[in-house]
Amino acid sequence: MTVPIAKLSFWGVRGSTPTVDPATWRYGGNTPCLELIAPDGTQIILDCGTGLRMLGSRWAVPNGGKAPGTHILVTHYHWDHIQGIPFFSPLYVENNEFHFYSFRSKFLGRDSLKQVFEAQMALPYFPVDMSAMSARRKFKEVDGGDSFTVGENKITARWLNHPQGCLGFRIETRAGTVAYATDNEPGDAKMDESLRELAAGADLLINDAQFTPEQLETTRKGWGHSSWLEGVKAARHAAAKTLVLFHHDPDSTDRMVDSILRQAREEFDSVFAASEGMVITIGAPGDPVQAHMPGTRTALRREAQFHAKVCGVTEGGKDFEEETVVRDISLQGALISLKHLPRLQSELQVTMEAPGGDGVQSMNLRGYVVRIDEGPEKGHVAVGVVFTD
Ligand SMILES: [Zn+2]
Ligand SMILES: [Zn+2]
Repeated sequence: MTVPIAKLSFWGVRGSTPTVDPATWRYGGNTPCLELIAPDGTQIILDCGTGLRMLGSRWAVPNGGKAPGTHILVTHYHWDHIQGIPFFSPLYVENNEFHFYSFRSKFLGRDSLKQVFEAQMALPYFPVDMSAMSARRKFKEVDGGDSFTVGENKITARWLNHPQGCLGFRIETRAGTVAYATDNEPGDAKMDESLRELAAGADLLINDAQFTPEQLETTRKGWGHSSWLEGVKAARHAAAKTLVLFHHDPDSTDRMVDSILRQAREEFDSVFAASEGMVITIGAPGDPVQAHMPGTRTALRREAQFHAKVCGVTEGGKDFEEETVVRDISLQGALISLKHLPRLQSELQVTMEAPGGDGVQSMNLRGYVVRIDEGPEKGHVAVGVVFTD
């Protein structure tokens, strides 16, 4: 019998509006879109932000076409959660089938999401209208408190605290449970309880971390979002195993998100900052939750040979120091072969010997672990780092 594994891919992690600022490149600028492939092959998409376009351009028929259709859960109708819909190419392919789930908005009434589709594509906002979308689309209304199944997976919806309403979703698969709670402000007793119910014992809690705890108490109070600290509290309270900080502010640079992640890791054992391209597997042998960054952004690499000393933190949380040779380097980063397994999204201090005008000079760089692959040599891992200064 094979072990059931669920795979969660992050296609968009930014809140409010997309950003293409180079200072936000590492975590990514597309707005919310996640894809969960459950162990039974069911494909579930969470939100339709601009990340949905990227998912569409790399479209693969789930489960070899055996699972009937794709299920799309939309948390609410703010731009950052629907903007990818007109740009999702699989919607323009005749034999595709999509099942959309969202709530009845009091501002729109019946068929709210269908109306959102039509309004988004109405003239003069978009060059073609809805009739160009030839895929089959089915719309289902869900309310806070509802539970339903898709394939063999149980989905529960709960209201969260956000202007004009927002649903959080709990997805229970054979491999483990994912709670998706974006766009939520803590402080409303009833909705705080909803969050705890969604996240109870979850393997993964994806939580809104748009603002800093200071902003949340002052200038951003009432804006409908949360912080890393509230995420940590919720994860602890609900006994969730891993916390993913999500819905990064468009004004948060990569360095600011690094610092948010660092603070959260001081308070909670297993935390990641959602990053575009990140894939988390649940249920695989070994660690129950594993994060990877597939090598999609490694252009501009050059072969080289620099002797280097690398200091960092291992997956198990221990400091290490190791001598190695850096063979693959660009101005942005390097691929470093290490015997130690550093923690994904941790910092490495890389001291390299670089031949200069007056013999050998040493270069001190701060690297940030963005991916870990099996190394070319036995007993080594290939660690992709991005230099942050
Ligand atoms: Zn949002
Ligand atoms: Zn929102």
